[in-house]
Amino acid sequence: MSASKRVAVVGVGTMGSQAAWRLAARGVEVVGYDRYAPGHDRGAAGGETRIFRSAHFEDSRYVPLLKHADALWEQLQQETGRELRRLTGCLLMGPADHHQMATVLQSIAEHGLDHEVLDAESLAERLPQFRIEDADSAVLDRRAGFIRPELTIQAAARRAEQLGARIHRYATVREIVPVANGVEIHTDSGSERFDTAVVTVGPWVNDLLPDLPWEVDIRRLISAWYVPTTDAWSGEDRPAFIRTAPTHCYGLPSPDGVSVKLGLSRALHRPAGDPNQLDRTVQPEELEAFTDLIGRYMPDLNPDPVRLSAYMEGYTESSRPLVGPLPGADNVVLLAGFSGHGFKLSPAFGDIAADLALDGASPQPIDFLSTLDRAEA
Ligand SMILES: Cc1cc2nc3c(=O)[nH]c(=O)nc-3n(C[C@H](O)[C@H](O)[C@H](O)COP(=O)(O)OP(=O)(O)OC[C@H]3O[C@@H](n4cnc5c(N)ncnc54)[C@H](O)[C@@H]3O)c2cc1C
Repeated sequence: MSASKRVAVVGVGTMGSQAAWRLAARGVEVVGYDRYAPGHDRGAAGGETRIFRSAHFEDSRYVPLLKHADALWEQLQQETGRELRRLTGCLLMGPADHHQMATVLQSIAEHGLDHEVLDAESLAERLPQFRIEDADSAVLDRRAGFIRPELTIQAAARRAEQLGARIHRYATVREIVPVANGVEIHTDSGSERFDTAVVTVGPWVNDLLPDLPWEVDIRRLISAWYVPTTDAWSGEDRPAFIRTAPTHCYGLPSPDGVSVKLGLSRALHRPAGDPNQLDRTVQPEELEAFTDLIGRYMPDLNPDPVRLSAYMEGYTESSRPLVGPLPGADNVVLLAGFSGHGFKLSPAFGDIAADLALDGASPQPIDFLSTLDRAEA
């Protein structure tokens, strides 16, 4: 590894702020660029909360990465003195024979994760805010909870700056041009040369890199906040939750205790269109799926939302993010397409971005995410 390298971080959002922190921590000269400023709500990261969990119901290959992220979450909290994450548990509910229930139990067994399986009776007693069907089961991941996205991004960016990084705010990168042994970053105020660039522009990936050989489908995600009608949602240890089927959804009690945020799965999100023109107005008919879910599974929430917001996220076909060099540009490291599950892993991906930018490889098990030999179009 060379500490004398100069590395650009293009996009200082979820992944970019962590990459800047991890690179600056290694004594490298880091320059970040963001079209807005770290912690804004116009991309993938707004809305107060994100779920952290240690068990993975999509693919148990993420568990070692989650363990790496877990340690870095602790380190970032310690270095910044801020509570970025609170471990209140995460409850996974759904048909007992659903493949995601099997995967979560497999990942728990394989990695010895702290969990509890709750039957309908104990669920009703301990967490009366949830209803489940007779054929459902519920698994409580105990090393899980919520992360504060805006606070995290600002804290990671500020920590990177304390360690020597420079971050250009309101500085849109127009072009990334590979040159001999390096890369040039072009903005409206000029261009700068670096040894390597880490590109973490999230939902703007097709905007900045229109010739990407993989499809990253940018979707518009709605978050809706509801106020409880009873005390069933009260208390300090209110877990985050995910329902696998028939409608995949998730939710988090707000840190301030006022409301509960709900979100839906990828299938129910419409294409975002131009990321610079996101339609942030939510129409009443877009709320039907939320209202149905509340009626069936969370009857102690008032079905009229008190707050609605729209965000964006990039999805790959397999839901596996793209992590690695851009084809034909070894000095450009891409991290994109986090497919609705990137935040919890973001410190690990920041560290992996630093590995790839400085050494061209990472000791973390990321072959299944690599851009090299990626077949999917
Ligand atoms: C509503 C919602 C709920 C989610 N819930 C969860 C959850 O519970 N748990 C979980 O783990 N994950 C969750 N996710 C996914 C997670 O938030 C994303 O995977 C993650 O935020 C993606 O980070 P990113 O760095 O790719 O994008 P972003 O955080 O959007 O960062 C991209 C940055 O690049 C900047 N940028 C763009 N273009 C340029 C340019 N040309 N020049 C300079 N800067 C530029 C932008 O301003 C932005 O700051 C959720 C996502 C959404 C939208």
